[in-house]
Amino acid sequence: MKFGTKAIHAGVHPDPETGAIMTPIYQTSTYVQRSPGDHKGFEYSRTHNPTRSQLQDALAALDNGKHGLAFASGMAAIDCIVKLLQPGDEVISTNDLYGGSYRLFTKVYAAYGIKFHFVPMHDMTAVEAAVTERTKLIWVETPTNPLLNVIDIAAASAVAKKAGALLVVDNTFSTPYLQTPLELGADMVMYSLTKYMAGHSDTVMGAVVVNDDELHQRLSFYQNACGGTPGPQDCFLVLRGLKTLHVRMQRHCENGRKVAEYLKAHPKVEKVFWPGFQDHPNHEVAARQMRDFGGMISFVLKGDRKEDAVATLEKFQLFSLAESLGGVESLSGHPATMTHASIPAEERRKAGLSDSLIRLSVGIEDAEDLIEDLAQAIG
Ligand SMILES: *Cc1c(COP(=O)(O)O)cnc(C)c1O
Repeated sequence: MKFGTKAIHAGVHPDPETGAIMTPIYQTSTYVQRSPGDHKGFEYSRTHNPTRSQLQDALAALDNGKHGLAFASGMAAIDCIVKLLQPGDEVISTNDLYGGSYRLFTKVYAAYGIKFHFVPMHDMTAVEAAVTERTKLIWVETPTNPLLNVIDIAAASAVAKKAGALLVVDNTFSTPYLQTPLELGADMVMYSLTKYMAGHSDTVMGAVVVNDDELHQRLSFYQNACGGTPGPQDCFLVLRGLKTLHVRMQRHCENGRKVAEYLKAHPKVEKVFWPGFQDHPNHEVAARQMRDFGGMISFVLKGDRKEDAVATLEKFQLFSLAESLGGVESLSGHPATMTHASIPAEERRKAGLSDSLIRLSVGIEDAEDLIEDLAQAIG
C-alpha cells in the first residue's frame, strides 16, 4: 500500500458495534470483565485504550514498523527511551539538539549517572571518536533543529551496530512522509506528534515506533509502569491529523522551497539554512535519505545583529511568533531566546547557533502571501 492510502486507512477499522467510520473516542478509564481476568483485551486505560491502539497501529504502519507506542508528549516518549539505560551507560547525541531533549539529558538523566556526549553528528568521525565500551544509545535528530544539518542515518546505524548500541532517530522534522529511519537501520523512531504528525497545533503528544518485539515489550513496560500515556481525545486528534499528512507535507515542501529560494536571493539575508539547496553541506545525504526537503528553514540577516532579527520577528503578520512547528499555519521563532534558551549561550555558540538566527515553520498557506509577509518584515 502506498503512503497516502496508508495515512488514511492503516491501523483503523470501522467500529464493530455501530459501523462508525471514524475511530470513536473511548473516553473510559476501565472496562467491565465477565469474570475475574476474563476480558476483551482491555483492563485499564493507562495500559490499553482502543482509540490509542488504533493510533499506535497507524503510526507503526506509516513507518513500515511493527509496533507503535503513543505518549502524552514527545518528551514523555524520549523519557521512556532513556529509561532503557542504566547508570554508567553513555549516550552520543547531536550538538544542535532540540532544547527539551538537551534539558532532559543534562538536567534530569545526568544526575542518574548516565553520561551524554554532544558531537557534530554530520561528521560521522566525531561520532566514532566518542564511542566507548559503555555507549548504549546513539541519538540522531535529522534535520537538526534549528540549523537544519542532515545526519546520515545509515552511517550512524553502522556505527551503532559496531558499538553494540541502539540507534534512535527523532523524526519529528521529517515525518515518515520524508524519511523512514527503521528502513535505514534505526532501532527506534521517535516523534513529537505535536508537530507535523498531528499538524493542526491543537494537541501535544509523542510516539515511538520499533520493529523488535523485545524492545517493544521493554518500552511498553515503561509506558505503562511510568504512565506518560495520552488521553483518547488527543489520540483521536492525531489520528485525524494523520489522514492528511501526505497532502500537508507535500505543500509544506513546495512552500518551503519557494520561501527558501526567496530568502536566498534577498539582499538583506546573509545565510539560509535549508537542506534542499545544492550547496547545503549535507545536501547529498539529504537527497539520498529524504524524499523531499521539508518546510523548516532558518536564516540570518546581514550584520548578524539580534536587534534586526527581533525587529523582523515583530513585523511578521502571517508568520506568528510562537514556539512549536509543523502546523498548517506558518510560525516564526527566535531559537536563542525561545526553543533553545535552555542550552547555555556558550554551547549554542559552539553549535553555530547565532543570536540573530530566525527559524521559520513554513505552513500550507499560499506561498505568494508568505513571501509578501517576508518582504514587508525584512524590508
Ligand atoms: C517538540 C519537539 C520535541 C518534544 O516534543 P513535545 O511534544 O513538545 O513534548 C522533541 N523533538 C523535537 C525535534 C521537537 O521539535
